[in-house]
Amino acid sequence: MVMLVSHDSMNHAKHSCARVSNRSRLQFFGAALLALSGIAGPVSRSAVAGEDRLNVAATTGQVGDLLRNIGGDRVSVTTLMGPGVDPHLYKASEQDVIALIDSDAIFYQGLHLEGKLGEVLEQLGQRRPVTAVGDGIPPDRLTTPEDFEGNPDPHVWFDPRLWAFCADAAATALATIDPDGASSHAERAERYKQQLDEVHAWATTALGAIPDQQRVLVTAHDAFGYFGLAYDIEVVGLQGISTSTEAGIRDVQRIADLLVERQVPTIFVETSVPRRTIEAVQVAARDRGWEVSIGEPLYSDALGDSDTPEGTYLGMFHYNVETIVAGLKGTTA
Ligand code: ZN
Repeated sequence: MVMLVSHDSMNHAKHSCARVSNRSRLQFFGAALLALSGIAGPVSRSAVAGEDRLNVAATTGQVGDLLRNIGGDRVSVTTLMGPGVDPHLYKASEQDVIALIDSDAIFYQGLHLEGKLGEVLEQLGQRRPVTAVGDGIPPDRLTTPEDFEGNPDPHVWFDPRLWAFCADAAATALATIDPDGASSHAERAERYKQQLDEVHAWATTALGAIPDQQRVLVTAHDAFGYFGLAYDIEVVGLQGISTSTEAGIRDVQRIADLLVERQVPTIFVETSVPRRTIEAVQVAARDRGWEVSIGEPLYSDALGDSDTPEGTYLGMFHYNVETIVAGLKGTTA
């Protein structure tokens, strides 16, 4: 148990992006895992009657969607974090613990996106395969922002070329866990990576239509760093990388000055971050005589509802690009 809740080791690897979970919650989680893992058997195929699917637990919507695309009908995916859920602040529920224990394999983003949950998942690796898809990205493709305590920015899905590395990591892990499906996983991963290539090419053209001066993306938190690098857009997150700290007054004033100077028509809220953080910027710009709109909410760390196009990675990415293009060109109200 001490191993599961060791705060010293966790603090060492702490990601500034993540709010520190409270100790009692973590201890409950650790205890529940130990208790439940005692009755869980070794890795096995799904116990669902008549099915021979691999039971996969995924943390974020993005990771769950990736596994569905690559695993196809060989996997049954349970995603822990639904629409609007902020992974940085995420606390596992009892139901989540049961889903993890019931799974044949666990996939998560890694790179400290899931905060301390990621470390607990690593512990679960003693009983079943646990894969961080973010570990598939070559380190030299990652950026390490200053306020990140030496950790790389985990928001890698906003560059489809980086997400393709995660697809490879998922396919490789699935092939090991499910050798009979190895060729299917590899083939589906190749097809999916082709779709990622296509969406990247499309996004490059679409975002290229934004005038140089207005290529400034102001959002609630700094999830779009890789997006900005991939598509040559200056990205300003009001809360920095962290969703767990309040934006300071100075940041608001500085961002408002930038909006006026560059005549940026739109700033953006995110589905998983409170709106009020970005409204303060709108007010500060107005005080300077510049009317800036708040665009449609962007999907940053969570996907949309599962019955909408934004419930998939590709749909979410497409929606974000169209929303950003319309907003920064000033063609939305
Ligand atoms: Zn984030």
